Amino acid sequence: MNAPLAQPLVFHRHGGGGDLAARLARAVEGDVLFDRASRGRYSTDASIYQVEPVGVLVPKSIDDVRAAMAICRELAVPVLPRGAGSSQCGQTVGAALVIDQTKHLNRIGAIDSEAMTATVEPGLVLDQLNAALRLHGLWFPVDVSTSAQATLGGMAGNNSCGSRSIAYGNMVHNVLAIDALLGDGTEARFGPLAAMDTGAPRVGALVAGLAAIGARERDEVARQVPKVMRRVGGYNIDVFAPQSERPYTPDGSVNLAHLLVGSEGTLAWTRQITLQLAPLPRHRTLGVVNFPTLYRAMECARHIVGLGPSAVELVDRTMIDLARGNPAFQPVISAALIGEPEAILLVEFTGETQDDPVRRLRALVALMGDLGLPGSVVEMTAPGPQKALWEVRKAGLNIMMSMKGDGKPVSFIEDCAVPLEHLADYVDRLTQVFAKHGTRGTWYAHASVGTLHVRPILDMRRDGAAKMRAIAEEASAMVREYKGAFSGEHGDGLVRSEWVAWQFGPRLTRAFEEIKDLFDPAGLMNPGKIVRATKMDDASLFRFRPDHRTLPVATALDWSAWDVQHDPVAGTFTAPGTGGDPARGFGKAVDMCNNNGHCRKFDAGAMCPSFRATKDEQHLTRGRANTLRLALSGQLGPDALTSEAVRDAFDLCVSCKGCRRECPTGVDMAKMKIEFQHHWQRAHGLPLPARLVAHLPRWAPWAARVPWLANLRDALPGAAKLSEKWLGFSAKRTLPAWRRDTFLRAADAGGAQDAAAADVVLFVDTFTNYFEPENARAALSVLRAGGYRVHVARASDGDAAPARPLCCGRTFLAAGLVDEAKAEARRVVTALAPHVARGAAIVGLEPSCLLSLRDEFLVLGLGEAAQRLAERAFLIEEFLAREHRTGRLRLPLAPLPESRALLHGHCHQKAFDAMGAVREVLGLVPNLAVDVVESSCCGMAGSFGYDAAHYDVSLRMAEQALLPAVRAAAPDTLLVADGTSCRHQIADGTRASGAREALHCVRVLERALRGADPRPA
Ligand SMILES: Cc1cc2nc3c(=O)[nH]c(=O)nc-3n(C[C@H](O)[C@H](O)[C@H](O)COP(=O)(O)OP(=O)(O)OC[C@H]3O[C@@H](n4cnc5c(N)ncnc54)[C@H](O)[C@@H]3O)c2cc1C
Ligand code: SF4
Ligand code: SF4
Repeated sequence: MNAPLAQPLVFHRHGGGGDLAARLARAVEGDVLFDRASRGRYSTDASIYQVEPVGVLVPKSIDDVRAAMAICRELAVPVLPRGAGSSQCGQTVGAALVIDQTKHLNRIGAIDSEAMTATVEPGLVLDQLNAALRLHGLWFPVDVSTSAQATLGGMAGNNSCGSRSIAYGNMVHNVLAIDALLGDGTEARFGPLAAMDTGAPRVGALVAGLAAIGARERDEVARQVPKVMRRVGGYNIDVFAPQSERPYTPDGSVNLAHLLVGSEGTLAWTRQITLQLAPLPRHRTLGVVNFPTLYRAMECARHIVGLGPSAVELVDRTMIDLARGNPAFQPVISAALIGEPEAILLVEFTGETQDDPVRRLRALVALMGDLGLPGSVVEMTAPGPQKALWEVRKAGLNIMMSMKGDGKPVSFIEDCAVPLEHLADYVDRLTQVFAKHGTRGTWYAHASVGTLHVRPILDMRRDGAAKMRAIAEEASAMVREYKGAFSGEHGDGLVRSEWVAWQFGPRLTRAFEEIKDLFDPAGLMNPGKIVRATKMDDASLFRFRPDHRTLPVATALDWSAWDVQHDPVAGTFTAPGTGGDPARGFGKAVDMCNNNGHCRKFDAGAMCPSFRATKDEQHLTRGRANTLRLALSGQLGPDALTSEAVRDAFDLCVSCKGCRRECPTGVDMAKMKIEFQHHWQRAHGLPLPARLVAHLPRWAPWAARVPWLANLRDALPGAAKLSEKWLGFSAKRTLPAWRRDTFLRAADAGGAQDAAAADVVLFVDTFTNYFEPENARAALSVLRAGGYRVHVARASDGDAAPARPLCCGRTFLAAGLVDEAKAEARRVVTALAPHVARGAAIVGLEPSCLLSLRDEFLVLGLGEAAQRLAERAFLIEEFLAREHRTGRLRLPLAPLPESRALLHGHCHQKAFDAMGAVREVLGLVPNLAVDVVESSCCGMAGSFGYDAAHYDVSLRMAEQALLPAVRAAAPDTLLVADGTSCRHQIADGTRASGAREALHCVRVLERALRGADPRPA
């Protein structure tokens, strides 16, 4: 079993001694995180490594960093600057005090549109900078794939490169100055050498020392530094003797900020960066060249580059197929293909006028004809299709990373750069090397600059390390033969620092050490990277070390789909449940998180609302996955699965299922939370309030009989306060009001239905039935108006409680009461089985309830019947949209008084791709324009937002996008939200500013109905 993380509060390893955590806590305003779980969460990045940090500081200000670095200096504790931690080479892991600058040090200092420059703090995310720059018609053009997560500090640290580097260069070409804090406390602005303020003796000596090394090594630099643009390994010693195809400065002059770029936090802590911006290209065209072989694509790349494109990106056959297998990407990729190409190149041209890129696109078509491939180019001039195809290109890697089993695509030769004339041979020979070692790789990315990404599939728990070394040796020999660069994009870190000597030779390696010592004589800045490095295959640094073990867990849910092994060459998987996971697949599902950091999102999509609200690693999908992985492998101590550390990591997870859809590797944290809750409540019991909420479907029939009594909590003065005190329900909220006119009671009174003849079975969930029966009535009216025979779902005759309404069991699942949930689910499956068997559609209203039938029901061990039910279960909007598309649905809808609707999607609708259907059915109402709020979770999430302890964070989630959009909507705009909690949050969140009511989409349709049957069920 893996050794537990050490207790860290007192740090002696580097000889300083003293209580670091306590001293930091006294000296800084930011968060000081030294507990095991926090350190565990910062012990990994997107690489294969795991090194336990001494502790973590999340500074509130630069002064916090100054204070922390002073204490570390005194105690001889290393310091490790960190942005999003999306490095692939292990740059951001180390036995050091990790300084996470993303939460607070993320401001834009100044934008000078005339000079086209911006000054930023290091924790600012690239997409957020570019959103601000768009208003000025500018952008920062180093467009890394991780633009939604990558920070400018991390990008400078890694000398990052974007898809359009052929036009704009790497970070080093776009950084003008860096204000830095050295390990010894010195502060200086590094910029053009001629303008450096060398008045302070320490700075003067440093600059003189660097210049002397530069002058001394001029010839060696010319001999050893690869003359390609994509070279990011080692220090940029060629500032003194330019070697890059693209000079770092327009006039070749020395800028000392460029020595810090790519230094991976080993020389200084960057506190401010001045960036060179570029005008936003006004016009773009895209030519997609289809090739019969990958070799041919690589051969042609250099000719295409001669046309001056802004990007030439490769997508190979494997990725084409993966994209075709994804419903969202299928139409996009198909539109780019001619026949069955083995590879495509995405060739982009930009220009100030439309003519220029169009002219060059024509030239591309002509060129391909000259190269013997006439008719091979799909021309895209409209922005929409271009954007969609770029998204596919970006997502390709992510789809590839979702491979189950212990063998994973491993990044270690992913960004070797070779001159374009050798690209085809390099790809061909390396493919053979993979085959020799019993693996394969998928090729993609930056053909324009000779940097093709490829990750061979290796099992790092078994023979992966040996194969990694062998493949790296052979790849490096080729890179040398072709005079390329071993590290062309992702940096050195732990995986490639040992290759610095190989690439640059002993003399420059020594010079690099001198540079390091001039900046950081005490060796405290991110030690062990670039110089004086460990070996890439030092297994003691691996995340999955040879002794990595998952502890046995008797899981409540069925995780067997994850418990498989994979044959990388044949591309086959073993049967579910045969992967050898002692945690029955739960462990392997957790291990799917490769720490790429994609969940650190603030813009599009839903994932991850708790992180968006808190900006804390602990409350991020990645943070949760890491906590679970450490717990399941014994690294957080005994019985850690039911520890408070894991409970705290899940505390703010609202089970929105955003990660299920948006995490590239499909980490499904909502399901993992159910599993965790199950073990937690078994170990610790369930407090009364949670028990009350969980069992609501069971006592609901009684409450509905005496609604005046059940609703007293919001009627009697002071009762809400008491409920907060005793039960933990926030007094600032009203609770959903119980109704006497429940839908099912009225439906019963309406007499028997011909169940056997119904085309649609309406599954009315607990919340709709007891709290908003008008929604179910609206559904009935709409379905009948559409000409459908509707049966309202009931428990089967053989049910132990036939009179009690059916329930999906969601409240039980949320509390981890899996057995109770299973019992409810079984009732539903049994009751609906006859309808499913005769092909009726099962239609529901509440996304979280109905979609349980398609999601959680499948992991409750209910067999084939549950699978068949899942295939027939639809949200009402999905059903109506599908029927409309087939031409069967004819609803007599009239225009409404309102001409606009603002639609907020329930998280589960988004996770199951149902938003298009809601838009589609609302679009059936004549003259109704529908706008969608680009929102994540509303923050209510079942009972989450009612909990007094969660009230603030719940509102913070809503304030991210939803509530501001609702408040900004004109009073006569219809608000549409299909989730009952979402509607409640909108009502609560707007109460102070003039309460707004949101409707389920089916109520909007009902209002627009002409001549529909108005009778209740
Ligand atoms: C799926 C995927 C796709 C990727 N695509 C690209 C790509 O297209 N192009 C590319 O270049 N890279 C890519 N990367 C690698 C990575 O995302 C980039 O290098 C990114 O710029 C790193 O930013 P970050 O904020 O995560 O930095 P981190 O990983 O947190 O840090 C990077 C380095 O910078 C140092 N650093 C951070 N802040 C400071 C500071 N204030 N002072 C001094 N040093 C500091 C760190 O110590 C570390 O050495 C990709 C990674 C993944 C997982
Ligand atoms: S949870 Fe998913 S998105 Fe987040 S880091 Fe892990 S793999 Fe990436
Ligand atoms: S379910 Fe939602 S809140 Fe929970 S980790 Fe996933 S994205 Fe975050």
